[in-house]
Amino acid sequence: MQVWKFGGTSVGKPERMQSIRQLITEDGKPKIVVLSALSGSTNALLSISESLIAKNAADAQTKAAALRAHYDTFITELYHTPAGLGKGQAIVEKEFNFIDSLIDTVPYTLKEEKEMVALGELLSTQIFEAYLQEEGVSSTLLPALDFMVIDADNEPIMADISAKLAATLTPVKDKQIFVTQGFICRNPAGEVDNLKRGGSDYTASLIGGAIQADEIQIWTDIDGMHNNDPRIVKNTFPIRELSFAEAAELAYFGAKILHPSTITPAKIKGVPVRLKNTMEPSAFGTLISEKSTDIEIKAIAAKDNITAIYIHSTRMLNAYGFLKRVFEIFEKYKTPVDMITTSEVSVSVTIDQTVNLDAIMRELREFAELEDPDKDQVIICIVGNFWADKEGIAIKVLDAIKNIPIRMISYGASEHNISLLVDAKHKNDALNALNEGLF
Ligand code: ADP
Ligand code: ASP
Ligand code: MG
Repeated sequence: MQVWKFGGTSVGKPERMQSIRQLITEDGKPKIVVLSALSGSTNALLSISESLIAKNAADAQTKAAALRAHYDTFITELYHTPAGLGKGQAIVEKEFNFIDSLIDTVPYTLKEEKEMVALGELLSTQIFEAYLQEEGVSSTLLPALDFMVIDADNEPIMADISAKLAATLTPVKDKQIFVTQGFICRNPAGEVDNLKRGGSDYTASLIGGAIQADEIQIWTDIDGMHNNDPRIVKNTFPIRELSFAEAAELAYFGAKILHPSTITPAKIKGVPVRLKNTMEPSAFGTLISEKSTDIEIKAIAAKDNITAIYIHSTRMLNAYGFLKRVFEIFEKYKTPVDMITTSEVSVSVTIDQTVNLDAIMRELREFAELEDPDKDQVIICIVGNFWADKEGIAIKVLDAIKNIPIRMISYGASEHNISLLVDAKHKNDALNALNEGLF
């Protein structure tokens, strides 16, 4: 079985939904189809939520009415039969009544906010599945909230997902198309939760891993992983093949086409991931698998909102145990460290989760001297084959960005990654300069 995921723009217009019906049924093979919310819906739901947090229910009602009008028009254009449209109307009516009940909930808490943002995927999947029924496709809904579970650290519980998904699939196994929600899940309290923005990619990979799929396909609005961020750099091009390790680095370090955690479940279970373009289905896209190619420099990505912390040992030389104490503090506050550079008495690290920054700084100060952290930094990650005995790579990279001030450099941690830290104001220039110098 294959798992195919369609993102917001791929389901964002009635004619797009109609064309993905064509795509998923063409080969007659069974598939699990993971859908995102219609493009713009998650943002609209979050905006309703913001009004409610600001205790402005009237504003929330106006925004909800505008969103509902969008869905009313959408379903009128999607369905061809009165019966189909009737089903669509019943879905929209039910879910917008629920939005109204959330608007009326006092106090409106994080729990309600998570129920609110889940509605994008709940709407898109029900609307699409009703459309498949109208078209006579053998299909069923698999409610993600019945099987997609996370633990107290927000980590998906793979064994439980496998067991619950198998139980959900068994009674409907003779169907051809299984439609499910991306992004949403349940937390240990049994409440509705989510896998963070862009999380539908992660859902697809978790399902692909859980059922040991033949392949996971991520369908989006571009013809695969490009060699650089196409929103910032002109003349980028798709990369045909990437290894799991290379794709994981690019996703983690900011290539928006994939949620940062997408590759992990696929890699663990050895399930290939193919990135495809809904607008141009015949384009090759990108195949991500165990295999690597020999191309020296493959792609560049950038991760925003990075904070750099500069730590100096107050003891003099040979202070072993210093790094251990430093990292224990990051562990205590569950704050991942992305980049590290060291000298004899100093260590600099970067983080992107800053909720506990003050507490981390306070505890570090007990045994170290700190400089003011630099906020608003960007990690630029260059991915390729940088084997240890290969000469000339660092000079190429540094020469390409010789006019950009660099705060930190990390080289040699893996054979696939060179990372540079620059101030956010230099991000676009750095990506463009690297593109020119390296490709
Ligand atoms: P979806 O809604 O289908 O999940 P996203 O907007 O999350 O789509 O991801 C696709 C977008 O990612 C592309 O339109 C492109 O602008 C952006 N993007 C950023 N970096 C890259 C890259 N290296 N390769 C391809 N797309 C990228
Ligand atoms: N709808 C969610 C979001 O906008 C998840 C996704 O699209 O992947 O972030
Ligand atoms: Mg996405």
